[in-house]
Formats: sequence, C-alpha cells, structure tokens
Amino acid sequence: MSEIIVGIDLGTTNSAVAIVQDGEPRLLGRGDEKIVPSVVAYSEQAGWLVGRPALNQYTLDPDNTVRSIKRDMGSDKRVTLGGRELRPQEISAFILRELKSIAEEALGESIEKAVLTVPAYFTNAQRQATKEAGAIAGLEVVRIINEPTAAALAYGLGDEEDQMALVYDLGGGTFDVSLVEMTGGVVEVRASHGDTRLGGDDFDMLLAEHAGKLFYKRHQFPLKENRVALARLRHAAEMAKIHMSDYPEADLREEYLAERDGTPLHLDAKVLRSEFEEMSDELLKRTVESMNKVLEDAELEVDDLSQVLLVGGSSRMPAVWQLVENFAQIEPAAEINPDEVVALGAAVQGAIIAGQPVDSILVDVTPYSLGIETATFMAGQIIPDIYSVLIHRNTTIPVTKEEIFYALHEKQDMVEIKVYQGEAAMASANTLLDDFFIKNLKPFKPGEAPSVNVRFDFDVNGMLNVTATDRLTGNTEAISVEATQSTLSLSEISEMRQQFSDADYFEDDEDAVIEGAIAPEIDDETQALLTRGKALLDEGKLADKQATSLKVLMEKVIAAATQDDLDELSEELLDVLFDLE
Ligand code: AMP
Repeated sequence: MSEIIVGIDLGTTNSAVAIVQDGEPRLLGRGDEKIVPSVVAYSEQAGWLVGRPALNQYTLDPDNTVRSIKRDMGSDKRVTLGGRELRPQEISAFILRELKSIAEEALGESIEKAVLTVPAYFTNAQRQATKEAGAIAGLEVVRIINEPTAAALAYGLGDEEDQMALVYDLGGGTFDVSLVEMTGGVVEVRASHGDTRLGGDDFDMLLAEHAGKLFYKRHQFPLKENRVALARLRHAAEMAKIHMSDYPEADLREEYLAERDGTPLHLDAKVLRSEFEEMSDELLKRTVESMNKVLEDAELEVDDLSQVLLVGGSSRMPAVWQLVENFAQIEPAAEINPDEVVALGAAVQGAIIAGQPVDSILVDVTPYSLGIETATFMAGQIIPDIYSVLIHRNTTIPVTKEEIFYALHEKQDMVEIKVYQGEAAMASANTLLDDFFIKNLKPFKPGEAPSVNVRFDFDVNGMLNVTATDRLTGNTEAISVEATQSTLSLSEISEMRQQFSDADYFEDDEDAVIEGAIAPEIDDETQALLTRGKALLDEGKLADKQATSLKVLMEKVIAAATQDDLDELSEELLDVLFDLE
C-alpha cells in the first residue's frame, strides 16, 4: 500500500482535511462535522480548545479566543493566549494538529505527510510560515499548492482539454479571484487578485448592524459597548445570512441580548433576502472590480474563459451565483461543496504525489433546472410565460430552495403553480411536470398583492416536493412529482456545460424573475387570441386609437385577476379581433 498523504485546507475561517480513498477524494471528520473552524482558544476550566469548541467560547470570552490567524502568517506578530506568547505559526499548528488527529482517528493509522494549500498571493515568507506550522504540528509538508489550483484539481479540469478557469473564492474573511490555466496537464495560476479584507464576516457585520438598529428602535437600548452582546448579534446575523441562501427571509433572533432594570431585552426581527442583498450590493461590486482586474492583468477577455468555479462558503449566496454568471456569461460550477473543494483538491495532489490513482468525483445532481411559471411587469406591460428557476441544473441533491412570489393583483385570490423542468427562458418551452392551484389567498400586507412561499424539496430518490404556502394564512397546497435525477462525473457535467454555453438560457432576465408574480392561468385558446392581437399590432396597419385600445384590452386579459374576469375579457378580445381583422 502506498503511503497516505492527506490534503489540508488551512483557511482563514475554516479548515478541513481530505484524502483519496479507492480513487475518490473525500473529507475526513468526526461524525458529521467535517469543517473545523480555524479558531484557537484558552479557557481556565477546559484548557486549550481548537475548532468548534473554541468558536463556541468566542461569544462568551472573545478576549481569550484567536480567530483568522492566517492573516498574520509570515509576520512578527505575537499573540498572548493561555499565559503564553505565541507566534502565528504556533497558533496555526494547533489547528493542523487537530486536523492530523481527526485524520488519524478516521483512518486508524498515523499520518505523517500532507499537502497544504495557501492563497495564490501568499509571499515566500507566508508560505514558509505555513510550512513551519506543519512541522510544529508533526507533519511533513510535502508540497504547498495554491488554493485556486487545488479547486481546479478537485474539478478534474485539464484532464481532457486545455482550459482557462476563473476561480472565484469568497470565504469568511478574504476574497480571491484567480485565473487558472490548464495546458497539457500542467496547472498554473496565470493571474490572481483579491481583497484580504473582504469576506463573509463583512456581510455578517452589515446584517448585525441592521439588527442592532432594529434592536435599538424597539428598546432604545444601545449595544455598542457590550462586547459579548455584539458577538452574539454577529452570530445571529451569520445564522440568518446562511439561512437566506436557501430561503427568501430569515429570523434575527437572540434571547436575552441585554437587560434593563432587571428586565431582559430580546432581539426578535425578520429580514428579507432582498433587503440583505440591497445592503450587501457594495461588497459584491468590489468583487467585480477584482474580476476585471485579474482579466486585465492576464490580458484576457471574458470570452477567453472556459470555466468558472465557485469556492468558499460565502459563494453559496444566490447573489454571488448571479453576479458571477452575469459577469462571465458562463454558468458557474458549484457541484462540489464550496467549503470542501480546496481540501479535496489538496488530497488529489497528495494522491498524485503518492502515486495513487484518482477517479473523477461523482455527484448526484439535478440534470435540469426546476422552476415555476411567473409573469412580470416590464415598462408598464405584463410579460407572461416567464420561467423562474428555483433550483439550477447541476445542483447537488438533496436540496431545498424557497422563494416568495406575488400575485399580479390585490384582488387575485388564487394562483396556479405550474412546475417545469428545463432551461428555456419561456416557461412553456420547458417540460411541464405538474401543476396545482392555491386558493383563498389574502394579502400579506394591506395594499399589497397576496404572496405565496414556494418551496422546492428535491430528495435523493428524485422526488420533487413542491409546497405553496399563503404567507398570511399559512394555508398550504403541495404536490410530489418525479423529476429527472442523475449521477454524473464532474467532467461529464463540464462537457454538458460547454455544449449549453451559448444556449438561450442566459437571456433569462433575472430582474424580471426576482420581481416575478404568478400569472393566472391563460388557456391555449386565449393564448391564440393574444398571438393574433400581437400579429395585428406588429403589422402596424391599425389606427393609433385602435392599436391603443387593443393593447389595453390584451393587457387586461393577461392581468385578469380571476377565471371569470379572464373568460369575460377573452370574449371581448375575440369580438374586437373579429372586427379589426
Ligand atoms: P470558508 O472560509 O470558505 O469556510 O467560508 C466561511 C464563510 O462562509 C463564513 O462567512 C460563513 O458564514 C459563510 N457561509 C457558509 N455557508 C454559507 C451559506 N450557505 N450562505 C452564505 N454564507 C455561507
């Protein structure tokens, strides 16, 4: 048996250890815990703490807890902890020792060698310090590789064709974007750019500030001086942020955050994903600047990119997916968990050095996008037949996604949920899986159209459960349908992605989708009338007045609030068309 070389991602926020076993890279952990927070702490009662227990103590005792030590690697900084002065290498060594023992427990044998990853921009001094951290932890660091290179290795890029991949890595505390070129089996970072002060933490801070304001508004109590309360607020904000990656809203809740005259004060508020995205727009724009810069440095254009890989836990935010897709005009790859991909790639490198065979990673994915039909207002007109995707194709399953959709009218008291699979921008051009109605809807807020939460749960057996819930009354309708599911290797997915790369998929107007409203059912006959009306308008032979009234009537038909209205208006349209034609 060849020797084991583990791969280690020593991250700013989180770390992980992986190996290749029977040809397949996989993460090692204790039970389900595979990600180790890069946190070291000292507690009078428990002594030295590493990982999750250290992170847990952060909210109680932030002063005796060290986070983000990676930022100080290669510097002369000293950290006082547990009555000792420690260098950044020594703090990092605590984390590496923890990962080493996780691997040893999982494999039942001693681990001596590792491949470690570092950001592409790390200087020699920083790389050297990382190597020393390994040595202090009792590991021989057989190679240091760049994180974007590791991501490309995990995706098996370069196995077949030459590739130019943009690796967008948004972690907890840092943002890096790199161009990785693969030619003739050689993987090389062509250019790299980043922002060492931009990451998930900044998104948490924004949300925590927002929560602090809400708390102040409610209780007239400032939290600014209270470090423990602020740490708890940040934690609540991070939980809400993570929730909103899959759901359209989240609770900001923290009991007993402060006390006034013996009365406990709680935080209990709600935040919408759309509000959060508005708050964080500036942060995301900074990542676009870096993407432009990296292309400029490499003297390349967006068109030269053949792949885009999403790395780092924060890349799970839907706004990131959208931003990167819009920028690169390529569907980003995120099949491998973005917080695991670097460690898996390091393990692949380890296996290559150890002479072990490595197979392409297999993942269970949704081979088609899944969504519902909606309509939207654009320039004062209603555009029907829009496909609003809830689960993008090639998403690893199981997966749950939820979105809020609005009826078109305040008076509209029911909507039809038509569930499609496919990639076309027009809903009706996709495959209809099933449809159902949710009735007796009531507006969530006065003056607003009723709204429903639509939830898609796709399980490992290929069953898609669709649930629609009236946001006011909580009334629910649900269906279960069998959707196509498959197990594909990452290289197969990459091939499929390239075939689709110039498909009409990208013409989908996401703004429209976000503002999407559920259209009332328009049957084939009415649709035919609308088509006839449009043909007449396009011909341009009608008098202005006739054209305007036809257009208004067609809009009314599309926007009909109830089935009765729709029937009546269709009749009227039929008559008008008869006259005009
Ligand atoms: P990493 O350093 O790559 O492990 O990334 C850690 C960061 O990812 C932290 O800021 C987390 O809050 C963030 N994160 C993890 N999961 C999610 C998620 N589902 N949505 C948004 N952010 C996430």
